[in-house]
Amino acid sequence: MNKRYIVALDQGTTSSRAVVFTPEGRVMASAQQEFKQHYPKPGWVEHDPEDILFSQTESLRAAVRKAGISASEIAAIGITNQRETTLVWDRKTGKCVYNAIVWQCRRTADLVEKIKQAGHTETIRSKTGLVPDAYFSATKIQWILEHLNLQDRAQNGELCFGTVDSFLAWHLVKSHPHVTDATNASRTMLFNINTQAWDDELLGLFNIPKAILPQVVDTSRVIGFLDEDILGVPIPVAALVGDQHAALFGQACFEKGMAKNTYGTGCFMLMNIGEEFRLSNSNLITTTAWRLQGKPTYAFEGSIFMGGATIQWLRDELKLITSAMESEEVAKSVPDSGGAYLVPAFTGLGAPYWSMYARGTLVGMTRGTNRAHIVRAALESIAYQSRDLFDAMAKDSGKMPENMRVDGGASANKFLMQFQSDIMGVQIIRPEVLETTALGAALFAGLAVGVYDNMHDISRVWNAQDEFIPSMAEIDRQKALSGWDRAVRAALYWAEEKE
Ligand code: ADP
Repeated sequence: MNKRYIVALDQGTTSSRAVVFTPEGRVMASAQQEFKQHYPKPGWVEHDPEDILFSQTESLRAAVRKAGISASEIAAIGITNQRETTLVWDRKTGKCVYNAIVWQCRRTADLVEKIKQAGHTETIRSKTGLVPDAYFSATKIQWILEHLNLQDRAQNGELCFGTVDSFLAWHLVKSHPHVTDATNASRTMLFNINTQAWDDELLGLFNIPKAILPQVVDTSRVIGFLDEDILGVPIPVAALVGDQHAALFGQACFEKGMAKNTYGTGCFMLMNIGEEFRLSNSNLITTTAWRLQGKPTYAFEGSIFMGGATIQWLRDELKLITSAMESEEVAKSVPDSGGAYLVPAFTGLGAPYWSMYARGTLVGMTRGTNRAHIVRAALESIAYQSRDLFDAMAKDSGKMPENMRVDGGASANKFLMQFQSDIMGVQIIRPEVLETTALGAALFAGLAVGVYDNMHDISRVWNAQDEFIPSMAEIDRQKALSGWDRAVRAALYWAEEKE
């Protein structure tokens, strides 16, 4: 087959990447371009839409060049993206009416507070699976329409709203389709993930006209052809998918009860919960994992604010280490943390605790506590927080996963992975290809154009590289966990004292 390669466009928060894959899922080449972050006011975060577009097309061209292939050998392109980030553009000219409002932006926190105070939390939760927050697109769209006085134009169908996948699809595909996929739609707080349709009641709550919304398509589907001006030939654009959803697929977590954790700046854990929508009792988010042939698969999602960032803190603020990599060797120089626990609740604690006011706490120190103990406690804190999420997911889904698949920068740390396995009591598996987000998008795209015939075909692409088996005695595990629980209570207690 001469059209054999698949290209993933991975449009992230700080950079745009493109990765060329062989059908066997090997990375042939990749290219990346960073772009500017705009912080017009404290707490506000924006991207210039032109920067997103330019960096993405440039990295696409560079990756294809590096791979040394002809564009006509590319079977399909899949797009994966930073989620929730909101753009509104003119349907005729394609020009954005405002910068992209990035998921991190807190400008609409008060709009969300109003919605919560009016008693709409449960409605939102039961329809969208989300805990109301300014991260999601709804209040960002509301803000743009209100502040630029665009209600009438939106109502008349003159404007398009889209998350980044949608924006890229419109601009890169020749026919300018106004579409998004079910995973990205699930992050808007406007999409009913039970019925898989935009929800009129939610649109009413945020005063958003339906005419502005994209059509929601399956995650794996040809939506049109890449504009020939970009690579010289038309290529099917065959997948749109949010980054964490792509990573779950790229980790081949196809069955109910399979989970992955990405150890980046923060950690993102997703567990496949099957084809039935359910809500968690621990305030985890429920999301559409993907939608294939009209059929949604759901996932629980939880995140840890301070994952690898805890190690950056050790390096940059405490200056206990000179590189993230060094943390492994330092942690291993002591047999344990000497009873010290760090709870890196620098910006509060997420699921399953949910306290905005909890703060970083270092407890259990003695006169003998040294640098290595603290470095070790910091790495262990990433594993403990992940264990808490995993535990909540297992409980709420009613299924204990047999293992957890891992990726992201900090998954390179063998000490951390072994401790993770010990403290969770399950096997940790690190795959051959750590580019799981890009791989997931490529697999969805390959599935749409017949590079892969079915899921069985795809599952052969994923291979384990390293496995970590639990080796801690149960009594030691329980003791360690009980110490962690007490440390978390201390971090929460601090919050109560402050309020
Ligand atoms: P992101 O995609 O969020 O930028 P990455 O997946 O690139 O994150 O991972 C970077 C994070 O991982 C940083 O916070 C860094 O401190 C951490 N990290 C990288 N290597 C290691 C390591 N060997 N041990 C512990 N943490 C690490």
